[in-house]
Amino acid sequence: MTSSEDLYAISADWLRSLEVASSTGDSKSFVSHFLSDGWFRDLLCLSWDFRTLSGSEKIHGFLSEVVDGKSRLEHSGLRDFKIDDHTANAPSPFKLPGPQDIEGVQGAFTFTIAKPAALGRGFFRLTQDVNGKWKALTLFTNMQDLVGHEESSADQHGLDEGVTWEEDVEAKFRAIEADPTVLIVGGGQSGLTSAARLRRLGIRVLVIDKNARVGDSWRQRYVETQLPIRMCLPSFNGIIYLSDARTNFPNYIPKGKLANFIDSYAVNQELCIWHSSSLVSTPVYDSSSARWTVEVQRGDRKVFVNPKYLVLATGSGSPYIPTWNGMDEFQGALYHSDFHKDAEQFRGKRVVIVGAGNAGADICQDFVAHGATEVTMVQRSATCVITSATAEKTHFKLPLPDSTPIEEVDFHRNSMPLALLLQLNIAGWAQHMKMLDKEFHDGLRKAGFNLTWELSPGSGEVGLDGFLFTRQASGTMIDIGCGKLIIEGKVKIKQGQEISHFDKDGITFKDGSKLSADVIVLATGNEPIMKTARALLGNEITDRLLPQEVMGLDSEGEVNQTYRPSGHPGLWFASGAFLFSRFFSKRLGLQILARELGIA
Ligand SMILES: Cc1cc2nc3c(=O)[nH]c(=O)nc-3n(C[C@H](O)[C@H](O)[C@H](O)COP(=O)(O)OP(=O)(O)OC[C@H]3O[C@@H](n4cnc5c(N)ncnc54)[C@H](O)[C@@H]3O)c2cc1C
Repeated sequence: MTSSEDLYAISADWLRSLEVASSTGDSKSFVSHFLSDGWFRDLLCLSWDFRTLSGSEKIHGFLSEVVDGKSRLEHSGLRDFKIDDHTANAPSPFKLPGPQDIEGVQGAFTFTIAKPAALGRGFFRLTQDVNGKWKALTLFTNMQDLVGHEESSADQHGLDEGVTWEEDVEAKFRAIEADPTVLIVGGGQSGLTSAARLRRLGIRVLVIDKNARVGDSWRQRYVETQLPIRMCLPSFNGIIYLSDARTNFPNYIPKGKLANFIDSYAVNQELCIWHSSSLVSTPVYDSSSARWTVEVQRGDRKVFVNPKYLVLATGSGSPYIPTWNGMDEFQGALYHSDFHKDAEQFRGKRVVIVGAGNAGADICQDFVAHGATEVTMVQRSATCVITSATAEKTHFKLPLPDSTPIEEVDFHRNSMPLALLLQLNIAGWAQHMKMLDKEFHDGLRKAGFNLTWELSPGSGEVGLDGFLFTRQASGTMIDIGCGKLIIEGKVKIKQGQEISHFDKDGITFKDGSKLSADVIVLATGNEPIMKTARALLGNEITDRLLPQEVMGLDSEGEVNQTYRPSGHPGLWFASGAFLFSRFFSKRLGLQILARELGIA
């Protein structure tokens, strides 16, 4: 099974047979194309939601649910399966990460959907079962576009004679402002990417942001000096509609450059944004008109807007600041890591950082670089640590050649069910990553730092992936230098003790031990997004949302609430890392477009 003809033939045979099952609406036969413990991930083709089913029984149950008197499979009418052999996702061999040697043939295919009339793209990973038959370990089906409403690939200005580009854009903005179909609250990369997608789907979208300038949320993040901001490889962080975004970017993007990049993105994508604007009061939803009434403070005046859809893209929650007795009495500087700006002003001081995740690590490093006399990190439980060198090999490296368009990379990544990825970690992939960092981890342990790869004791080692997808990286440290300082004793570790109270000159722990400090930084993370939502939207609306926290994984392994129905009509959440918003902003656009067309 080495030649490309073989790969193609295996793929084509399997796909042809799958199409027969699909076009005859034969759920049983469709399921027989999977391994008995295979995985099926569907984004918007068979239902207006994101679903991951594992095992024959669940897949069959889903396909045979009755929709308008037909089985779901028959109702959707998936057909015209064609191998997609002109892209980087053409049939090729694969081997899954981990020690189990799962290998086979993978590839993309295109198809059509009858109801709604849509174009789809799928991806399969086939392996041989015990009888040598090729079966799907994973099948991914994904809606690409609604027929007749395809995402426009280029912007047509069609300037009237005598109308300048500025006048044209201005006129379009006035029309949007007068009657926005979608209002996005938050103009970070999630809000902007969603706005760009919706705009290309022909939907009027207005973005409001409390900051004066796009990118300010990055500009205001903690200062970088010798340390780069914790940004991953540019290919990991690229943005849609800017295929050259990977050029002239260092591997670790300084926050100022990133801020300017997304600022320029908003301009060149011609997004209508109100700066220095935020919600004044709780938005009100009128079910009969299916419209929101939203009062916005725009600079120094109040304005009402009546969008049909409200998208919250306000970023991670507000700072989580635990309370301890005596905090008011502490006489030094005390602040949350989100407000860390300038370690230089604390040169020669004793610093305690409460929290042993990424923010705590970056800030420890900053204080050491700026001559703090003593830097101590307080670690309550355990942290999932991976060196950036290992993360670059295991997480940030593209699964496809470097020159592959970012859309192909995102499609490939999303073809993998997240729950399977976590299983692979437990089966040995996390163990493999631990081995790569063994010496480093031993050094950390020797310095008193506690490590974990489990979300809770005994739940299985899900490694960095588990923390990224279920906790938005909380509890992780992707090390870019702090670890070495810990090993060298330049950052001391106070481990495993709960804080009892604050004193005027430091912190006392429950075992009676004490740390003296001039500065205490609480690197204690952020509140859940749902808490921010409740503050902005009020109880009545928030109580109608699905009970799960925004982000995190549902029982099937799909990300909760985000870019998918929230439980409240007309309300959506857009959030997460760059690679996430790049891909899922399109799915959000399709769901809103379908509602506008009255087909969802
Ligand atoms: C140090 C650090 C390093 C990171 N590194 C990476 C990385 O390498 N790759 C990656 O993908 N992610 C990284 N992240 C995560 C990063 O925060 C997110 O990827 C990204 O910022 C999320 O974008 P967002 O648009 O959802 O949120 P944000 O960028 O936080 O944007 C939210 C926007 O909403 C606005 N806003 C908030 N509340 C309101 C309101 N009530 N009214 C109006 N406007 C409001 C804010 O002003 C802001 O502009 C990192 C985060 C940190 C802190």
